[in-house]
Amino acid sequence: RVNVAPMTVEAEKDALHAILSFEDISHIREAEQMRHDFVANVSHELRSPLTALVGFIETLQGPAKGDAVAAERFLGMMERESDRMARLIDDLLSLSKLQARERDAPSAVVDIADVINDIVVSLGGSNEHLRERIKVSIVKGETKVIGDKNELGQVFQNLIENAIKYSPDGSDVVVTACAAEKSDEHICVCVTDQGDGIDPVHIPRLTERFYRIDKGRSRAIGGTGLGLAIVKHILIHHRGSLKIKSKLGEGSTFSVYLPAAQTA
Ligand code: ADP
Repeated sequence: RVNVAPMTVEAEKDALHAILSFEDISHIREAEQMRHDFVANVSHELRSPLTALVGFIETLQGPAKGDAVAAERFLGMMERESDRMARLIDDLLSLSKLQARERDAPSAVVDIADVINDIVVSLGGSNEHLRERIKVSIVKGETKVIGDKNELGQVFQNLIENAIKYSPDGSDVVVTACAAEKSDEHICVCVTDQGDGIDPVHIPRLTERFYRIDKGRSRAIGGTGLGLAIVKHILIHHRGSLKIKSKLGEGSTFSVYLPAAQTA
């Protein structure tokens, strides 16, 4: 931490040191501003489902009192708003745990083929139509990485869910191991959709917390705006990286690079 008062004293003794210290201060201000924006965003994101819930309760107590049809409709909407708040809180807790510095670096050998398989089963559930949309082309044994199975599951779950959310119903979501991008040190797994694509101006900001291209659309389809921020933090922890390639109208590819496990 830089203290403002001693810095002024040092400025008289050593001009160069003073300049460096001023830069430090600007970083602190920037961090403070980011924290302030984050708290404002969280409050706003929690406030809007809460306002909707209060509105529904007032309607059910007032104008719609005794109306069984309206009650059923409103209760359905209230359930959706409560789910949204719960998802937001879960995502915020995940993000805050991921940002805590004291976590050990992951060390287990994990096969991404197993991770993807588990996700397809859990996302598809009993929804055969959804399961059929996800086309996986990964050979077990060829995508072994050093990592944490749960965290890597979260990465691919978020990417596959986004691919489904932001592309037309029925279109394919393809998950492949990109052999061309593989090296001795890294493996690469790509999630490709046939959705609307992303204007390149947005790409550098997509992993920022609450950055959404179309807030209304993201909310309507159940997005919290934190999915890609969570992906980013998990990949930082794994010393991995994310490449986003997209063109408006031509779908998107999210490529995940992870440190390969040394196979004997
Ligand atoms: P959200 O909960 O809004 O989906 P994310 O952090 O997962 O939040 O994604 C941030 C934004 O990036 C989304 O709101 C959406 O605008 C855009 N996005 C993410 N994935 C895709 C995709 N596959 N195709 C198009 N846009 C996407």
